[in-house]
Amino acid sequence: MSQVRKLWKLGRKDANTACFDVNRDGELIVKEGNYQYNIFDLVRKVGSPVEVFLPFILEQRLEHLFDTLKEQARETGYRGKYYYHYPMKVNQNKEFVLTLVAEGAHLEVASSNELWLVQRLWQEENFSSKIRVLCNGPKTPEYLKLIHKLADNNLSIVPIVENLDELDLLKDFKGDIGVRINLKTKVKSHWDNKFDRFGLTSEEILEIGKFRNLKILHYHIGSQIERERDMIAPLTEAFKTYAALKKKNPSLDTIDVGGGLAVPYEKKRLYKLDRVVNRLLTTMVELSEEAKIAQPNVIVEWGRYITAPAQFTVYKVVAEKQMEKAPVSSWYIVDGSFMNDLLDTWALHQKWHIVPVNGLDAEHRKRVWLAGLSCDADDQYTASEGYLLMPRMDDMRPGEDLYIAILDTGAYQDAFASHHCLLGSPTKIVLQNGLLSVARKKEGPQEIGKLFGW
Ligand SMILES: *Cc1c(COP(=O)(O)O)cnc(C)c1O
Repeated sequence: MSQVRKLWKLGRKDANTACFDVNRDGELIVKEGNYQYNIFDLVRKVGSPVEVFLPFILEQRLEHLFDTLKEQARETGYRGKYYYHYPMKVNQNKEFVLTLVAEGAHLEVASSNELWLVQRLWQEENFSSKIRVLCNGPKTPEYLKLIHKLADNNLSIVPIVENLDELDLLKDFKGDIGVRINLKTKVKSHWDNKFDRFGLTSEEILEIGKFRNLKILHYHIGSQIERERDMIAPLTEAFKTYAALKKKNPSLDTIDVGGGLAVPYEKKRLYKLDRVVNRLLTTMVELSEEAKIAQPNVIVEWGRYITAPAQFTVYKVVAEKQMEKAPVSSWYIVDGSFMNDLLDTWALHQKWHIVPVNGLDAEHRKRVWLAGLSCDADDQYTASEGYLLMPRMDDMRPGEDLYIAILDTGAYQDAFASHHCLLGSPTKIVLQNGLLSVARKKEGPQEIGKLFGW
């Protein structure tokens, strides 16, 4: 089986597949400590399509991030405090948010509705009022009202000023505030940032000079930043403004470096977490020394990096269609939709690591493309090498369907999900402590119809 494991890149830490393995029958299994889940058995039981959430992966990843921050602080002589704020927009499912908060995450919200959900968690006494919530996004009247209401209830709410009007809107705000800087540094990422509209320029910030209760200088410059130097250059630029701003605002003591840490979706080699953290902290230490100021505290908001590997999506292959004069021999049609359930496939031409759930040890494989159930020609997945190698249907055991798993689908896809052709969202299950629970059933026609006034 070690050949099979190697072929499908399972059991590899650097590829975020450490918990995946294959059993003697050529079926995909997930290992959580001493527990083991047979994914083939589970999907046949609950039905496909299904999204599988693995809370223990979230826990492991956040714990590893905290360990790395601690270790690299020691290594680099960094003496500030470090915080993780989970950007809720990456995955707002309650199971995700509560798991991360339990592991020590603070939060970052992007809208009034996200903050409203946070309010609900407090009301349900699901978490401590010590949790700090950074509020990004346009401060609409209802958002502002909620910010004030929660702050008046002694909750730790920090609005981040993104434009000059907001400064005015927040002039009565009594708690800490942050300001977002629009940097000149541009990086290669999933983000069209030639003309970034978020934040104030350094000139604008320095012209204002003194802010009331200023605590945090924040930037967020892109998502899925794949070059190591692009993770460091923005900090070097932002630090100059920080140092100048601190002179007039002694309460300023934190730099929030936003998100952007990348995920090796295609299992290509990427930078290592400890190196990026080391270089960020070294930069903090050196630039503070140069500017003769105290080392700032640091906030990281790496969303995709923490959440993507904690979920995968399973589809059943429901039909095969031969192709002629094409780079591949067949379409495999699946019982879900790339356009609806994994929208980045369509929007960003996102590539995923895709493995069979059964038949991992099939003797014969063929070159295929995948297509979703909607009637749209764009509802397809044509892999990065131009084709995908999948088991041949006639190689499956008699009466056995082929299932496939798309890995690393825990970031962004759920909130982007749509209803093209009124297809329903998949079932969502949670695997934890050896048990399976159903978090949400597959959407039926009644529920979908309702969304459209039926
Ligand atoms: C979206 C977002 C993040 C998360 O970005 P990732 O690329 O997923 O790490 C963090 N901070 C802010 C302000 C964001 O808007």
